[in-house]
Amino acid sequence: KMNTDLGQHLLKNPGVAAAIVQKSNLKQSDHVLEVGPGTGNLTVLILKAAKSVTAVEMDPRMAAELTKRVQGTPEGKRLKVLLGDVIKTELPYFDVCISNTPYQISSPLVFKLLSLPRPPRCCVLMFQREFALRLFAKPGDKLYSRLSVNCQMWAKVSHVMKVGRNNFNPPPAVESSVVRIEPKNPRPQISYEEWDGLLRIAFVRKNRTLRAAFLGTSTILDMLCSNYRLWCAQNDIPVDDSPLDGDDDGMEVDDEPEEEEEWGGIMDMDDEDDVPDFFKEQQELKAQAKKGNPNRRKKGKVQELVREKVRKVLEDVTELADKRARMCDEGDFLKLLYSFNQEGIHFS
Ligand code: SAM
Repeated sequence: KMNTDLGQHLLKNPGVAAAIVQKSNLKQSDHVLEVGPGTGNLTVLILKAAKSVTAVEMDPRMAAELTKRVQGTPEGKRLKVLLGDVIKTELPYFDVCISNTPYQISSPLVFKLLSLPRPPRCCVLMFQREFALRLFAKPGDKLYSRLSVNCQMWAKVSHVMKVGRNNFNPPPAVESSVVRIEPKNPRPQISYEEWDGLLRIAFVRKNRTLRAAFLGTSTILDMLCSNYRLWCAQNDIPVDDSPLDGDDDGMEVDDEPEEEEEWGGIMDMDDEDDVPDFFKEQQELKAQAKKGNPNRRKKGKVQELVREKVRKVLEDVTELADKRARMCDEGDFLKLLYSFNQEGIHFS
């Protein structure tokens, strides 16, 4: 019995399994990570072409079946099965990642693979077609999102092949695609957390102007403020924390009204797997603040200073204030990050 809640759609076409392994260009010396081996349709082929396989499987019945399948064979000695959720598992070093990915973890898996301190040479991954298209989407495309920018920043992404739903048991609702993600080597010399922190803000609503994204809500400004305080403390820069003249009641300033959504129809195309989490975090921070969090500060000179720095970067330095995240390319975001950092504005 398959558990489709775990995205269990086993590859039943041996030709597709063979093609995936062949497209991975494995060397006999390679250590391979396989995500969600299931009953081992890919695993046994990978074991023939590589030195070792670490397979992370969430379902104990599947893990047991795979272990049984290779038991007593010479290949079995080169396979290590880790039972658990790959997103929460600390991964050993590997040269190549191969996966017929359980679709629920597509987004977190890509983010995890892209942020590894020692990225693999290449990842060959099966995804739902629409998710795969988001990885290649370019500025202005309907499917362009934080995932697209991130993926293209850290890796070269290419389409390997389309796979129809009838190659799986049971067939999933939609078509799939195999993609190859080759992390750039050397890795771009910027902090993953800073970069992704900036993108998270820009893409909360990708159809808003950057001005609205960065200056339109007090939660974002509060976050940038506390990062700024931290940065000043680390760099021995004194912070003028006195309250603002005539506004020392410590009241939260209301969020500016949102600008009208011209592109309402495609809003829900944002990184749906990540955005709710982000909002939740922000709401929790807000709730904490209301409960009298000692870190909560009155509106003061620092807030004004940070607001002015952000405004200056958006309007004067980069002149990107009126641009929308959905139209910005990697170069725009790099320019933003660099200019913000020059002003002491940080995102992690
Ligand atoms: N590799 C097999 C194949 O191609 O026939 C199975 C692929 S099936 C699409 C996905 C597998 O991932 C299932 O065996 C499922 O139990 C496992 N899985 C689901 N969520 C997981 C997670 N968070 N971590 C590790 N494995 C997971």
